Amino acid sequence: MSCLFCRIAQGEIPSTKVYEDDRVLAFRDINPQAPVHVLVVPKEHLSDLNDLSPERQALGGHILNVLAHLAEQEGLKTQGYRVVANTGENAGQTVPHLHFHLLGGRGFGWPPG
Ligand code: 5GP
Ligand code: ZN
Repeated sequence: MSCLFCRIAQGEIPSTKVYEDDRVLAFRDINPQAPVHVLVVPKEHLSDLNDLSPERQALGGHILNVLAHLAEQEGLKTQGYRVVANTGENAGQTVPHLHFHLLGGRGFGWPPG
């Protein structure tokens, strides 16, 4: 298996896990861009949001629930946080396995650069 996040999800490559269930894994980003920077990935290989077809609606909803749960767990609920899913070249996606960034612990500018 060559996909980096599939290998992390299978436990073949170590990560700092913050949440896991049968469908998703959340772990700390290796190069954090904020005091809290967590990645939430489906265990099933999907390349990006374009693969989150209507049949996978339940998975998409579950990931959003996990993100909200983690925001609370990480103490971000009151001050706020940002969720990002870079998709494709224009967004600068570097790992071709669907992932959501949960970022918090500082302020962020808008619009993004
Ligand atoms: P993207 O640029 O595709 O939106 O985000 C990929 C993210 O994965 C980056 O923030 C990068 O730091 C993170 N990342 C890349 N390789 C690893 C790794 O081996 N372990 C962890 N924990 N994060 C990684
Ligand atoms: Zn994968």
